[in-house]
Amino acid sequence: MDMLTKLIHNPALMDKYTGASSIPVYHSSTYHQDLADTPVRWTYSRIGNPTRQALEDTIAELEEGVRGFAFASGMAAIAAVFTLLGQGDHIILPYDLYGGTYHLMTTMVERFGLSASFVDMTNLTAVENALTPRTRALYIETPSNPLMKITDIRGIVHIAQHHRLLTIADNTFMSPYLQRPLTLGCDIVIHSATKFLGGHSDVVAGLVVVKDNQLGDRLAQIQKDWGGILGPEDSWLVIRGIKTLGVRMDRAQQNAQYLTRWLKSQPQIAHVYYPGLPGHDGTALHHSQALGPGCVFSLRFQDPNYWKAFVNRLHYALYAVSLGGVETIVSHPATMSHASLTEEERRQQGITDDLLRVSMGIESLNDLLADFQQALEG
Ligand SMILES: *Cc1c(COP(=O)(O)O)cnc(C)c1O
Repeated sequence: MDMLTKLIHNPALMDKYTGASSIPVYHSSTYHQDLADTPVRWTYSRIGNPTRQALEDTIAELEEGVRGFAFASGMAAIAAVFTLLGQGDHIILPYDLYGGTYHLMTTMVERFGLSASFVDMTNLTAVENALTPRTRALYIETPSNPLMKITDIRGIVHIAQHHRLLTIADNTFMSPYLQRPLTLGCDIVIHSATKFLGGHSDVVAGLVVVKDNQLGDRLAQIQKDWGGILGPEDSWLVIRGIKTLGVRMDRAQQNAQYLTRWLKSQPQIAHVYYPGLPGHDGTALHHSQALGPGCVFSLRFQDPNYWKAFVNRLHYALYAVSLGGVETIVSHPATMSHASLTEEERRQQGITDDLLRVSMGIESLNDLLADFQQALEG
């Protein structure tokens, strides 16, 4: 079955009891147990809720894993996955990791006796060099945020399998519509469903999918014990968002492909970072592991002070944090997503003040083009 069909005709998405085309929002914390000594499917909503379960089954199906888990945010999902590791374990992560994950790792998780190395994951030799006898996991984000660097998923998996490590992929930027890391050998996929999966900038949610039942059982225990579950109402919003994931991403990606080509040829622009552009580092690699360049790109101005005027002149795009909504969102990584880094860390990652990140929306390309043009020309 093709992905566009799967997004809609997924067995988990129809209500089994009534045939309702949309799974109801099961606002229930507890469930009546009919007979005193017979186990029942549903007991308590932290452990399981039919609306959340429909979302969990759906994301497992889309990522081609065996089991899915929904959490109250992307960060709650990431924190839950980190607790698969224990005291003394070492993990290798990208140096240009999502800011929240970096902060979680360096301020919270390390307190529990875990250690981390932050390396350039696009350089497989650097990854090999960072291995220690205590290394248990490799963590990747590809394309990276915000410079859209491409990590070789198969290459990382190859190293992980050789050393019996877990490979964990944050697939937020691509979504399962464009990239399915479990099919390339990863063990765990994480999403901030706040972004493309939800798709309408109206819900905060996180998802995890695992490739086998052993990891599934461990994560189920973690989800139940730490308790950071997604509520039924928010689960329903993500379920509804997922049904249009394909059309939204196709449309936004078309806009991004056109707009990045146009921006690249403008004299005010110094650089456009997008895997859909010829000449972008890692484009060929990206297309060997993903089905499209995606809907997010970054741009750098010739004049380092120009970005503010540009942002102030934009009519349609939101100037905001986050990405993956139906509306175009322009953000300033240095003061938004990467504000918690020190200036030195930002400089090392290439996140200078003149950099803007664009999450392409599904508005009319003509309107977006006219808007970007007037904002650029002033
Ligand atoms: C937004 C984001 C997160 C965090 O997700 P929340 O839903 O905001 O908690 C993690 N990873 C990436 C790549 C993100 O973009």
